[in-house]
Amino acid sequence: MKHSPNAAQLFTSLNLPEALTQNLASMAYHNMTDIQAAALPPALAGQDLIAQAKTGSGKTAAFAIPLLLKINPRDFGAQALILCPTRELSTQVANEIRKLARYQQNIKVVTLCGGQSIGPQIGSLEHGAHIIVGTPGRIKDHLRKKTLDISRVNTVVLDEADRMLDMGFMEDLQGIVAQTPSQRQTLLFSATYPDDIEALSRQFQQQPQRVSVESHH
Ligand code: ADP
Ligand code: MG
Repeated sequence: MKHSPNAAQLFTSLNLPEALTQNLASMAYHNMTDIQAAALPPALAGQDLIAQAKTGSGKTAAFAIPLLLKINPRDFGAQALILCPTRELSTQVANEIRKLARYQQNIKVVTLCGGQSIGPQIGSLEHGAHIIVGTPGRIKDHLRKKTLDISRVNTVVLDEADRMLDMGFMEDLQGIVAQTPSQRQTLLFSATYPDDIEALSRQFQQQPQRVSVESHH
């Protein structure tokens, strides 16, 4: 990934906790990508967000940093829920969040996806988890079984929202988000911006800030 050396785009300009900035530097994250520079200030201020930027532009950190800063490690209830279209994407997102979370001890990230047996997932939920990452179908299964409680989640992320809509997850998303508190922050990330993203936003978001980074190719 290419970044222009713009002082305004340094992570240090965000006044993040020192330990987090150091962890970002240890990951060789010095300059924010364009979508991070556009999305992080409003997201850190607690606003809902519709963020659009192409694949590979660093969208994961743009939602992960704001939600990590709100996690209380002493509370082992689910505090953030990230919905992704596929198991592969859920795994990638969970791994990136685990790296970003290293500045703090004991933040547990659990992935809940189909195509994996449900028993071990129930086992890890019983031990408590701060951050849930998964696909809508399996998350719905856990809610139905009451093995997952999302009633105290303070951040909901719809990652690759365009793909989730293409895959027909609209109803599942409605059922899931309905079980989260209305006083949550809802962050919607997408590579493209089809009309149904607006419909999704209207249902789940309050006065969302729109940030979009065009590709220059
Ligand atoms: P997207 O979700 O937009 O497709 P990702 O969040 O998966 O993009 O990020 C793509 C790659 O860029 C990942 O390997 C990630 O670790 C890396 N990356 C993200 N932000 C930065 C940054 N600020 N500096 C350097 N590398 C970054
Ligand atoms: Mg992504």
